[in-house]
Amino acid sequence: MLMAQDDPDLTDVVRWVEALRAAYARSLEDGVACWRRAEAAAAGGAVSATALAQAALLALETMGPADSISLGMSACEALRRHGGAGELDRLRAVRATLPARSGLRDWRAEASRAQAVIEARAAGWCTCAAEAACGAGVYGEQWRIESERVDAEQYCVHMVVRCTVCQSEWQVRQDDGYHYPIFAWSRA
Ligand SMILES: [Zn+2]
Repeated sequence: MLMAQDDPDLTDVVRWVEALRAAYARSLEDGVACWRRAEAAAAGGAVSATALAQAALLALETMGPADSISLGMSACEALRRHGGAGELDRLRAVRATLPARSGLRDWRAEASRAQAVIEARAAGWCTCAAEAACGAGVYGEQWRIESERVDAEQYCVHMVVRCTVCQSEWQVRQDDGYHYPIFAWSRA
């Protein structure tokens, strides 16, 4: 695996996105590792969240039919986590141009989710309601599962989940009767 110092600086977005594509061309693992290093750099303060969001935006804008869905979905995730008002216009514009792919679930929903979450952040709101409206999973540091009850007959789990940012409480029904879990959120 390449060392972090082999990546171009994230503020040089064109070169960074080229390196990202080169990593995906080598292997899916190399591509995913490239995102992981960028997330670690942002978490450690080595690069700004805005730099990572801008790089993710360029990756999405230049996405073509040959690109891995992982590249697009990871770009959406980085935007959702780090994007702000400065990325919104370009994200709205690129949403319509993203290549469709066959799959169980339209990956472009992640771009819509990123847009909804950034809109909430730019408005100064907690992002939990936007995440809930988009059927987010209950994974990650934003959520704390306070209770869960398995309904084996209905292939679902009923949870009470708290947003760790604003402390809002949510009822979440995780439906496992499909090929992938579906999360339905309502205010507790
Ligand atoms: Zn919240």
